[in-house]
Amino acid sequence: MSDFAVQRERMVRDMIAARGVRDERVLAALRKIPRHLFVKEHLRNQAYGDHALPIGSGQTISQPYIVARMSELLEVGPEHSVLEIGTGSGYQTAVLAVLARRVYSLERVPELAQAAIPRMRHLGFDNVKVQVFDGTVGWSEWAPYDRILVTAGAPKVPEPLLDQLAPGGTLLIPEGQLNLQKLVIYRKSQRGEIRRKEGEDVAFVPLLGRHGWKTQK
Ligand code: SAH
Repeated sequence: MSDFAVQRERMVRDMIAARGVRDERVLAALRKIPRHLFVKEHLRNQAYGDHALPIGSGQTISQPYIVARMSELLEVGPEHSVLEIGTGSGYQTAVLAVLARRVYSLERVPELAQAAIPRMRHLGFDNVKVQVFDGTVGWSEWAPYDRILVTAGAPKVPEPLLDQLAPGGTLLIPEGQLNLQKLVIYRKSQRGEIRRKEGEDVAFVPLLGRHGWKTQK
């Protein structure tokens, strides 16, 4: 096994499974995806630590435990169409691509999307579409989505995302203040009713945009 593969095994065992993530499909996805290829070369030896890392443009690749936990909470099935807001490095996108049928991912920073797109292609994830756009308005073209995952912190859930969620669907979003949020799950019943449930504390970079935090001009 390569050094990175050994580090990856250790990450999944000691930082993810040991902290309570049980979903075998999620654990298998994290064992498989070469996380070190989603960070800049000089940070590769830190890629399997349980922390976020800078990816440029003031953004971060999320901590592996949080990626695993959110993927588990979202209960993604092989038949699902998933919308992700906040492509960033594309690491969470890759995990979703292993779990789902199709993944649509929006990123507002062009430089990040431009790095993530060839990375996806190079690693053979051909069921992913990435686009540069304000994700707070969603992506109506491919809606509705069985699952929606927001990987940036919002003041509250953007209404267009709830509209684009399929009946029976689940949306997961960090909601709260600029530097501290709660992970919130929204479920839409077959009749279209929305139920909201608050979970654990998390700290994500802000969701900026029309239905998110306003950007300073
Ligand atoms: N899942 C990513 C996390 C990236 S951090 C990873 O692990 O690499 C959150 C990302 O959300 C940042 O790249 C940020 O630019 C992006 N973002 C913030 N507001 C957004 C918006 N309105 N639409 C799309 N992306 C947004």
